[in-house]
Amino acid sequence: MFEPYLCPICHRNRTHFTLIYKLEQEVQLDPKTGVPVFESQELEPVLRPDGTPDLEVRCARCNYVASETAFIPRRSPENGKTQPRRRGP
Ligand SMILES: [Zn+2]
Repeated sequence: MFEPYLCPICHRNRTHFTLIYKLEQEVQLDPKTGVPVFESQELEPVLRPDGTPDLEVRCARCNYVASETAFIPRRSPENGKTQPRRRGP
């Protein structure tokens, strides 16, 4: 389910954005040197508790970057719940 974006800073851009996906990688470090002694070969997308990708969004007009929720102007204050969304991989 998609929702329209609106940049909260310039208030003009509803169409051009860059989606920034977060990836997580498990590592184990040497406690003295910080050198990785193990690095997972897999980069996993960071997911929210509801299973949707944890996105940040950059406005292509003013380059403001924030969590995706900041770009979704319409919220439902009654229940405070976000709608499940599917976007990206
Ligand atoms: Zn903007």
